Amino acid sequence: MGKRALVMIPGPTEFEPEVLQALGAPTASHVDPGFVDVFGEVLELMRTVWRSPAGQPFVLAGSGTLAMEAVGANLVEPGDGVLVLSTGVFGDRFDDLLSRYGARVTVIRSEVGRGVDWDRVEHELATGDYRLVTATHVDTSTAVRVDPQRLGDVARRHEVLAILDGVCSVAGERIDQDAWGLDAVLTASQKAVGVPPGLALFVIGPRALERFKGRHSKVPNYYCDWAKWLPIMEAYEQRRAAYFGTPAVNHVQALRVALGRIQDEGLDVRFKRHKRLGEACRSALTALGLGIVPENADEAANTLSAAWYPDGVAAGTFLAAVREAGVVLAGGLHPKIAPKYFRIGHMGATGPGELLATIGAIECGLRACGVEFKLGAGLRAVERVYWS
Ligand SMILES: *Cc1c(COP(=O)(O)O)cnc(C)c1O
Repeated sequence: MGKRALVMIPGPTEFEPEVLQALGAPTASHVDPGFVDVFGEVLELMRTVWRSPAGQPFVLAGSGTLAMEAVGANLVEPGDGVLVLSTGVFGDRFDDLLSRYGARVTVIRSEVGRGVDWDRVEHELATGDYRLVTATHVDTSTAVRVDPQRLGDVARRHEVLAILDGVCSVAGERIDQDAWGLDAVLTASQKAVGVPPGLALFVIGPRALERFKGRHSKVPNYYCDWAKWLPIMEAYEQRRAAYFGTPAVNHVQALRVALGRIQDEGLDVRFKRHKRLGEACRSALTALGLGIVPENADEAANTLSAAWYPDGVAAGTFLAAVREAGVVLAGGLHPKIAPKYFRIGHMGATGPGELLATIGAIECGLRACGVEFKLGAGLRAVERVYWS
């Protein structure tokens, strides 16, 4: 081991060399005019990538869970009714997190591999007393993708705030925050955005900011309080330095590079590229005789795939053999099914070349486990999606 391997997990992902160079550059002062410009551009570019001209972007040092925490701490007051649509581990995380801020949480939990039952959501919002509804765009534990447009639509009709956990989707799956009526869309740097772990990123819409400003109680979390960060984000966007907590200077510089690449690629092109990656990956897994965890193809994520092991395959043996062939994959995460499946991240700086290497390594892994299949069938399936 120790030799360089492709990291094909659902975050951290493979990163562009230019992004990594920005991380390794000499660190500027956080009030340096050059850095102030970079931070300002980052905030403007986030509006573009989230498609939320009306939204307020935030960049905090932390991981995706901190972005979830910020939303919970600032938008929930004790006693608020919250409906959590859970399609896996990260939906359940919202339940645990929001409960700690005093929310009365009701969870609509999908069976593993299934999407959201919107009729149930409709009924619950019509009959219950709710202020907020959350959904996970792509639950990284199941690779199930939820329709954020429906989330926004149902939330608007029932006059509750719509919160989208987009940690495994922003800049990989289509999101139109303003047009779809989403009040908060959050992510982290290390997934489809393409910057090593370290930044919590979110864009808050006008209705959510209004809710925050109308709070009856103080935000019970010091670091996450938007009253502290809002003036900072506004200042940097107006190209003035301001201080509450030291920003992660190098990470913000790397994010400027990554968002620039996303803008240059073009959002529609980027979403299509991810869609093709998802299709090619699932088609290869199927060609190798593996079952896909999401039950419906139109609810399968394009940023990662989750597949069942064939009978008799042990996770440890398989993943070690794949690693020996040069590719790092992720094991199962959902506690109900963890030893029975594995996950492949294919987002950000990933193309057909990386996917072919990954499927090739998976074929090696299956062979090492004594699984019978037609050698090359997975590779052939990827090639068919791209070049036939
Ligand atoms: C990764 C992930 C998170 C948590 O992000 P961290 O950066 O690990 O804290 C939350 N939600 C989803 C959907 C994720 O994929």
